[in-house]
Amino acid sequence: MLFLLGEKTIASTENLGEFNCPICDTQKNLLRVIEKNYFTIFFIRILPLGITADYNQCDGCGHTYSAIDAEAPLYFETLQSVLAYLLAGYGLNHGIEVSQKIFKAITGKEVSATEIQDRINHINQGSSLFEQLKTSVNKLSWLDKSLIIEAAYLLVYAARPIEYEERLQINLVGNALGVCLEAVNAIVKNLSAAQYRGILAMEIENHTP
Ligand SMILES: [Zn+2]
Repeated sequence: MLFLLGEKTIASTENLGEFNCPICDTQKNLLRVIEKNYFTIFFIRILPLGITADYNQCDGCGHTYSAIDAEAPLYFETLQSVLAYLLAGYGLNHGIEVSQKIFKAITGKEVSATEIQDRINHINQGSSLFEQLKTSVNKLSWLDKSLIIEAAYLLVYAARPIEYEERLQINLVGNALGVCLEAVNAIVKNLSAAQYRGILAMEIENHTP
Protein backbone atom coordinates (compact mmCIF):
# COMPACT_ATOMS: atom_id res chain seq x y z
CA MET A 1 0.00 0.00 0.00
CA LEU A 2 1.27 3.45 -0.88
CA PHE A 3 1.30 6.06 1.86
CA LEU A 4 1.04 9.69 0.86
CA LEU A 5 3.44 11.48 3.21
CA GLY A 6 3.67 15.20 3.56
CA GLU A 7 4.07 18.29 5.63
CA LYS A 8 1.54 20.93 6.56
CA THR A 9 1.71 24.26 8.38
CA ILE A 10 -1.15 25.16 10.71
CA ALA A 11 -1.50 28.60 12.27
CA SER A 12 -3.28 29.21 15.54
CA THR A 13 -4.05 32.63 16.99
CA GLU A 14 -4.69 33.92 20.48
CA ASN A 15 -5.93 37.45 21.21
CA LEU A 16 -3.52 39.11 23.66
CA GLY A 17 -5.86 42.07 24.05
CA GLU A 18 -6.15 45.66 22.87
CA PHE A 19 -3.05 47.80 22.49
CA ASN A 20 -2.24 51.23 21.21
CA CYS A 21 -0.66 50.42 17.84
CA PRO A 22 1.99 53.04 16.96
CA ILE A 23 1.47 52.42 13.24
CA CYS A 24 -2.35 52.33 13.16
CA ASP A 25 -2.27 55.16 15.71
CA THR A 26 -5.34 53.74 17.46
CA GLN A 27 -6.46 50.82 19.66
CA LYS A 28 -6.16 47.48 17.87
CA ASN A 29 -6.00 43.84 18.86
CA LEU A 30 -2.62 42.21 19.25
CA LEU A 31 -2.77 38.59 18.14
CA ARG A 32 -0.24 35.95 19.00
CA VAL A 33 0.23 33.79 15.91
CA ILE A 34 1.87 30.40 16.24
CA GLU A 35 2.63 28.39 13.14
CA LYS A 36 3.38 24.72 13.59
CA ASN A 37 4.58 22.23 11.03
CA TYR A 38 3.01 18.79 11.03
CA PHE A 39 3.98 15.56 9.45
CA THR A 40 1.00 14.24 7.52
CA ILE A 41 -0.13 10.93 6.12
CA PHE A 42 -2.86 11.23 3.51
CA PHE A 43 -3.09 14.91 4.51
CA ILE A 44 -3.95 13.96 8.08
CA ARG A 45 -1.84 15.53 10.81
CA ILE A 46 0.11 12.81 12.58
CA LEU A 47 3.08 14.38 14.29
CA PRO A 48 4.05 17.95 15.19
CA LEU A 49 7.44 18.74 13.61
CA GLY A 50 8.03 22.01 15.39
CA ILE A 51 7.15 25.67 15.54
CA THR A 52 8.02 27.62 12.39
CA ALA A 53 6.78 31.04 13.55
CA ASP A 54 5.65 32.63 16.79
CA TYR A 55 4.89 36.34 16.61
CA ASN A 56 2.59 39.05 17.96
CA GLN A 57 0.75 40.72 15.11
CA CYS A 58 -1.46 43.83 15.02
CA ASP A 59 -4.80 42.96 13.42
CA GLY A 60 -4.86 46.41 11.82
CA CYS A 61 -1.52 46.96 10.07
CA GLY A 62 -0.14 43.41 10.05
CA HIS A 63 3.18 44.36 11.66
CA THR A 64 4.64 42.38 14.55
CA TYR A 65 5.57 43.63 18.02
CA SER A 66 7.80 42.32 20.79
CA ALA A 67 5.10 43.00 23.41
CA ILE A 68 1.77 44.74 23.99
CA ASP A 69 3.55 47.94 25.17
CA ALA A 70 6.13 48.09 22.34
CA GLU A 71 6.80 51.56 20.97
CA ALA A 72 7.74 50.48 17.45
CA PRO A 73 7.20 47.41 15.27
CA LEU A 74 9.93 44.77 15.52
CA TYR A 75 10.97 45.03 11.87
CA PHE A 76 12.22 48.62 12.28
CA GLU A 77 15.45 47.38 13.91
CA THR A 78 16.05 44.63 11.37
CA LEU A 79 15.38 47.05 8.53
CA GLN A 80 17.89 49.56 9.92
CA SER A 81 20.48 46.79 10.30
CA VAL A 82 20.00 45.68 6.70
CA LEU A 83 20.48 49.25 5.45
CA ALA A 84 23.57 49.70 7.64
CA TYR A 85 25.00 46.34 6.54
CA LEU A 86 24.73 47.25 2.86
CA LEU A 87 26.17 50.75 3.43
CA ALA A 88 29.08 49.26 5.38
CA GLY A 89 29.64 46.54 2.77
CA TYR A 90 29.80 49.03 -0.09
CA GLY A 91 31.82 51.51 2.00
CA LEU A 92 29.16 54.17 1.46
CA ASN A 93 29.16 56.31 4.58
CA HIS A 94 27.88 59.23 2.52
CA GLY A 95 24.80 57.15 1.74
CA ILE A 96 23.32 57.49 5.24
CA GLU A 97 21.02 60.29 4.11
CA VAL A 98 19.60 58.15 1.30
CA SER A 99 19.18 55.23 3.72
CA GLN A 100 17.13 57.53 5.98
CA LYS A 101 15.01 58.41 2.95
CA ILE A 102 14.50 54.70 2.21
CA PHE A 103 13.51 54.03 5.83
CA LYS A 104 10.94 56.84 5.63
CA ALA A 105 9.61 55.63 2.25
CA ILE A 106 9.09 52.11 3.62
CA THR A 107 7.90 52.77 7.18
CA GLY A 108 6.50 56.32 7.07
CA LYS A 109 8.67 57.09 10.13
CA GLU A 110 11.99 58.85 10.66
CA VAL A 111 15.29 57.30 11.69
CA SER A 112 18.22 59.48 12.78
CA ALA A 113 21.59 59.46 11.02
CA THR A 114 23.18 58.59 14.38
CA GLU A 115 21.10 55.42 14.68
CA ILE A 116 22.21 54.25 11.23
CA GLN A 117 25.81 55.24 11.98
CA ASP A 118 25.74 53.26 15.26
CA ARG A 119 24.59 50.18 13.38
CA ILE A 120 27.29 50.66 10.73
CA ASN A 121 29.88 50.81 13.54
CA HIS A 122 28.44 47.63 15.00
CA ILE A 123 28.73 45.82 11.70
CA ASN A 124 32.27 47.14 11.14
CA GLN A 125 33.12 45.72 14.57
CA GLY A 126 32.08 42.30 13.36
CA SER A 127 28.42 42.00 14.37
CA SER A 128 26.73 39.61 11.93
CA LEU A 129 23.61 40.73 10.13
CA PHE A 130 22.77 37.17 9.15
CA GLU A 131 22.82 36.01 12.77
CA GLN A 132 20.38 38.81 13.57
CA LEU A 133 18.16 37.88 10.63
CA LYS A 134 18.13 34.26 11.77
CA THR A 135 17.03 35.16 15.28
CA SER A 136 14.24 37.45 14.04
CA VAL A 137 13.02 35.20 11.24
CA ASN A 138 10.14 33.55 13.16
CA LYS A 139 9.24 36.76 15.02
CA LEU A 140 8.32 38.70 11.87
CA SER A 141 5.22 38.58 9.69
CA TRP A 142 5.28 38.13 5.95
CA LEU A 143 4.55 41.87 5.54
CA ASP A 144 7.57 42.79 7.71
CA LYS A 145 9.84 40.49 5.74
CA SER A 146 8.69 41.78 2.37
CA LEU A 147 9.35 45.38 3.49
CA ILE A 148 12.86 44.47 4.70
CA ILE A 149 13.58 42.94 1.28
CA GLU A 150 12.21 46.08 -0.41
CA ALA A 151 14.52 48.25 1.69
CA ALA A 152 17.53 46.07 0.82
CA TYR A 153 16.71 46.31 -2.86
CA LEU A 154 16.24 50.09 -2.72
CA LEU A 155 19.58 50.63 -0.99
CA VAL A 156 21.41 48.51 -3.57
CA TYR A 157 19.46 50.20 -6.37
CA ALA A 158 20.56 53.61 -5.04
CA ALA A 159 24.16 52.45 -4.72
CA ARG A 160 25.06 50.43 -7.79
CA PRO A 161 23.88 49.17 -11.15
CA ILE A 162 21.87 46.03 -10.35
CA GLU A 163 23.77 43.10 -11.76
CA TYR A 164 24.39 39.50 -10.73
CA GLU A 165 26.34 40.28 -7.54
CA GLU A 166 23.80 42.84 -6.42
CA ARG A 167 20.86 40.50 -6.97
CA LEU A 168 22.75 37.86 -5.03
CA GLN A 169 22.95 40.22 -2.02
CA ILE A 170 19.17 40.72 -2.09
CA ASN A 171 18.57 36.99 -2.50
CA LEU A 172 20.81 36.26 0.51
CA VAL A 173 18.78 38.65 2.67
CA GLY A 174 15.59 36.99 1.41
CA ASN A 175 16.99 33.53 2.07
CA ALA A 176 18.04 34.44 5.63
CA LEU A 177 14.47 35.63 6.23
CA GLY A 178 13.06 32.37 4.88
CA VAL A 179 11.55 34.05 1.81
CA CYS A 180 11.82 31.96 -1.36
CA LEU A 181 13.38 33.26 -4.57
CA GLU A 182 10.04 33.48 -6.41
CA ALA A 183 8.66 35.71 -3.67
CA VAL A 184 11.79 37.91 -3.73
CA ASN A 185 11.37 38.28 -7.51
CA ALA A 186 7.71 39.24 -7.05
CA ILE A 187 8.62 41.82 -4.39
CA VAL A 188 11.23 43.38 -6.69
CA LYS A 189 8.77 43.43 -9.59
CA ASN A 190 6.20 45.23 -7.43
CA LEU A 191 8.81 47.75 -6.40
CA SER A 192 9.53 48.60 -10.01
CA ALA A 193 5.78 49.05 -10.59
CA ALA A 194 5.76 51.41 -7.59
CA GLN A 195 8.54 53.54 -9.19
CA TYR A 196 10.97 52.38 -6.50
CA ARG A 197 9.06 54.45 -3.94
CA GLY A 198 10.69 57.63 -5.27
CA ILE A 199 14.28 56.40 -4.80
CA LEU A 200 16.49 57.05 -7.83
CA ALA A 201 18.92 54.62 -9.46
CA MET A 202 22.50 55.34 -8.33
CA GLU A 203 21.24 58.13 -6.07
CA ILE A 204 24.07 57.57 -3.57
CA GLU A 205 26.82 57.31 -6.16
CA ASN A 206 25.69 60.50 -7.89
CA HIS A 207 25.41 62.33 -4.60
CA THR A 208 28.22 64.80 -3.88
CA PRO A 209 28.82 64.93 -0.12
ZN1 LIG B 1 -1.32 48.31 13.74
